[in-house]
Amino acid sequence: FLSEPQPTRETSFIEKMKKTSRNIVIFYGSQTGTGEEFANRLAKDAHRYGMKGMAADPEEYDMSELQRLKEIPKSLAVFCMATYGEGDPTDNAQEFYDWLQNADEDLQGLNFAVFGLGNKTYEQYNAMGKYTDKRLAELDFISWKEQFWPAICEYFGVEATGEDSSIRQFELVLHNDVNMNQVFTGEMGRLKSFQTQKPPYDLKNPFLASVTVNRKLNKGGNRHLMHIELDITSSKIRYDSGDHVAVYPTNDSETVHRIGERLGESNKKHPFPCPTTYRSALTHYLDINNTPRTNVLYELAQYASDPQEQEKMRKMASASPEGKALYQNWVLDSERNILAVLEDLPSLKPPIDHLCELLPRLQARYYSIASSGKVHPNTIHICAVVIEYPTKTGRVFKGVATNWLKNKQVNENGHSPTVPMYVRRSQFRLPFKPSNPVIMIGPGTGIAPFMGFIQERSLQKQQGKEVGETILFFGCRHRNEDFLYQQELEEFERTGVLTQLNIYVQHLLKKNKEQLWKLIHTNNAHIYVCGDARNMARDVQAAFHDIAMEIGGLTHTQAVDYFKKLMTKGRYSQDVWS
Ligand code: FAD
Repeated sequence: FLSEPQPTRETSFIEKMKKTSRNIVIFYGSQTGTGEEFANRLAKDAHRYGMKGMAADPEEYDMSELQRLKEIPKSLAVFCMATYGEGDPTDNAQEFYDWLQNADEDLQGLNFAVFGLGNKTYEQYNAMGKYTDKRLAELDFISWKEQFWPAICEYFGVEATGEDSSIRQFELVLHNDVNMNQVFTGEMGRLKSFQTQKPPYDLKNPFLASVTVNRKLNKGGNRHLMHIELDITSSKIRYDSGDHVAVYPTNDSETVHRIGERLGESNKKHPFPCPTTYRSALTHYLDINNTPRTNVLYELAQYASDPQEQEKMRKMASASPEGKALYQNWVLDSERNILAVLEDLPSLKPPIDHLCELLPRLQARYYSIASSGKVHPNTIHICAVVIEYPTKTGRVFKGVATNWLKNKQVNENGHSPTVPMYVRRSQFRLPFKPSNPVIMIGPGTGIAPFMGFIQERSLQKQQGKEVGETILFFGCRHRNEDFLYQQELEEFERTGVLTQLNIYVQHLLKKNKEQLWKLIHTNNAHIYVCGDARNMARDVQAAFHDIAMEIGGLTHTQAVDYFKKLMTKGRYSQDVWS
C-alpha cells in the first residue's frame, strides 16, 4: 500500500492508454462498488490474453475522446454499467449518460462491449433474495466473462497466453524511513484531511461530524433501532428533507485483529515495517465483512498448503455446477466472510498484501435523512436498524456501519465521537406547493425521510402557509415495541400538522380507498413510499392499482398506466433500499 504510486491527474484516457501502452479501457458505472470491482477484474484478466487493460471512472475522463480510441491498435472500450435506484445511472456515470444523450461525435469504428448490472426485483423480501441477487450478478459476470475473452481473442486474432498465475498489482516494499505524515490512516482523498478539514465536503472529502445524540428508539423487541444526530455546524453543509447522508464506517477492530493474527505466520516471512498501514487498510479501506467473491477464492487457493482445501477453493471458483453449488452453500448461504474462510480452511495462509489487493473497497453507507434542513440546519438525523443475526455456522453476522454507529455513544466528558459523512442530493422532495396533499407510506425505518417532511410541513404551517393534508401510513410490528417516534408523531397529530396517522400499511390503504383516490385523482396529492423492503413497495403499488380500479373504475392496464404517469410527473416517488 505504501508503494502504490500516486497518479497525477490525467483527464485524457487516450493519452494515458498510449503512455502506458494499454489497448483496453474498462469504464464502470458503480454505486456500491460492484461495477468498479468487475472492471478491475477485467483489466487484470487482459494480461492473460497478451493485452493490457485499465479500469476507468467515466467521471474522471473526457468521454468525447471515445471517437479517438481507434487511434490505438486493437483497442476496445468495455462498459460495466450498474443501474441505480429506479433505473437511474449511478452518480459517477451521470455525466457520461447526459453526454450520451446529446453526443453527436462520430463513433464509427469504435470496438466496444457492455456488461450491465441490474437491480432485480425480488420475489420475496428476505436475506436470501439479496444473496441470490448478489450471486446472480457475480455468476452472470463469470458466464459473460467466459464468453467475452474468447470472442475478443477471435476478433483481434490473438491467443491466450495460457498463463494462469495471478497478476499482482500491489507489492510489499520495505520502508525503513517512512514519514508517518505521508501514510493514509483512513482518509478518503487528501492526506491528513481529517486533521485539517476544508469545505466543500463530498465523497472524497467527508466532514467529520460529531455525534450529539444516539438513542434507542424502540421500547421492546430484540432489535435495536436508533436515532442519531450528527452535528454539521460550521461545515457549510446544506441539505433538504428527502436527501441522503452517506457515512464511511470503520470495520470491527476485533475482526481486523483476528485477520492479522491468522496471517501472523506469513507476516514473519514478509516482515513489514508499518503494520499500522495494513491495519489501516483492513480497518478503513477494505470490505472484510461480506462474503468474498469467487475470484478471491481462486487467487488465494495457491496459499492453501492442504491439497484438499486448495481444491475446494478452486472448485468454488469454477463455473461447474458442483462448484457453483458449493460456493452457494459454503460461502453465500453460510455467510462466511474472509475471516471465517481463513478460520475454516486452516492451511490457508495468504500473504496479507495479496489479501489486501483482492478484497473490494469498503463502501460508504447511505441513510435517508430523518430531519428537515430548514428546521434543523445544524444537525442531520439518522434512523437506522442495527443488523445483527446468527448465521448457519454459528457465528453472528454484524452489519459494519450499523454496529459501528451503535457504539458511537456520546461521552459524558464532552468528547463526542465523530463520523466521516457527506450529503447526497436526491429527487425525493415535498411538493413545490405546500397546499398539495401528501400521502406518505413508510414501514419501519422507512419513516426516516417522513420525519423530515412532517417537520417541514409543520414549519410551513407555523409560517402561515396553507398546508394540504398530510397523511402518514407507518408500519410497525408491535405498537408498544417499535412504534418509532411515537411521541413526536402523536404531537404532530395533536397540532394538526399530521392530519392522519395510520400505523399499519397495506390493509389501511384499502380501508381509506375513497379518501385516497379523491386526494390523488382530484386534489393532486403526492405519494411517497420509503423502506427497506422491495416487495413492500410493490405491494403498496398493487394496493393503489386496486384502489384505482375499484373506486376510479379503471381497468388494470389503465391503473398501471395511471401510476406510471404519476411517477414520471414526480407525484409518486420511492426511496427504497434493500
Ligand atoms: P453490512 O455490513 O453492509 O451488511 C449488510 C448485509 O446484511 C446485507 O448484504 C444483507 O445480506 C444483510 N442484511 C441487511 N439487512 C438485513 C435484514 N433486515 N435481515 C437480514 N439480513 C440483512 N438503512 C436504515 O437503517 N435507515 C435508513 O434510513 C436507510 N436509508 C437508506 C437509503 C438508501 C438510498 C440506501 C441505498 C440504503 C439505506 N439504508 C438505510 C441501508 C443502509 O445503507 C445500510 O445498508 C444498512 O444500514 C446496513 O449497513 P451495515 O454496514 O450495518 O451492514
